[in-house]
Amino acid sequence: MDRLPLTRQAHHTLEGCLAEGDHVVDATAGNGHDTLFLARQVGATGHVWAFDIQAQALQATRARLEAEGLASRVTPVHSGHQHLAQYLPENLRGRIKAVMFNLGYLPGGDHGIVTHPRHTLAALETALDWLHPDGMISLMMYRGHPGGQEEHAAIEAWLRERRDIVCDRTRERPFPSPVLKCLKRA
Ligand code: SAM
Repeated sequence: MDRLPLTRQAHHTLEGCLAEGDHVVDATAGNGHDTLFLARQVGATGHVWAFDIQAQALQATRARLEAEGLASRVTPVHSGHQHLAQYLPENLRGRIKAVMFNLGYLPGGDHGIVTHPRHTLAALETALDWLHPDGMISLMMYRGHPGGQEEHAAIEAWLRERRDIVCDRTRERPFPSPVLKCLKRA
C-alpha cells in the first residue's frame, strides 16, 4: 500500500470503514475526485455533502458526478467547511461515517486560494462532533505551497493535544511531499 499515491491510499483506508447507506462529508470538493469516490462508496441509499468555497470547484465536481450519473447522491455546499454544522441535518450528528479533507489549492485553479489552519482546525473540531463512533477523518496535507507548512504544523500541534484521537499515519516522506493521516476516536 505504501507504493500507492497518497490520494489512493486515503481511498483505500476509507473503503474499510464505509458501506452502502452511509452519510459522509467531502470537506474540500475541489475537482470532485474524492466526492466521486465517496458517492460510489455510499451507494444509492447514502449521501455525500461536498463543501468548497469556490464555485469553479463545485461546478467541476458536479460535472464529474453527472458524467457518472451520481449527482443525486451529493449535496454541493458553496461554503467553508468551518460552517459544516449549519448544513448537515441535525439527526446525523454522531452518525457521519467519514469526513475527507484534501487541503491546499484547487489544481488548475487559483493557487492563491488555499485552505487556512484556523478554518481547518475549526472544521476538524466540528467534524469530530458529527462523526460516528466508528467513523474516520482523512487528512491530506500539502506542504509545498505558501502556508502549507504552517497549516501542517498547526494540525500536528492540534493532534498532539487530542488524546481522544488515534492517528493511522502513513510512512512520512521527506519535505515537501504531502502527508496523509487517517483519524479515528481512541
Ligand atoms: N478533494 C479535491 C479533489 O478530489 O479534487 C481536491 C481539493 S483541493 C486540493 C482543495 C480545495 O479546498 C480547493 O478547491 C479550495 O477551494 C478548497 N477550500 C479552501 N478553503 C476551504 C474552506 N474553508 N472550506 C471548503 N473548501 C475550501
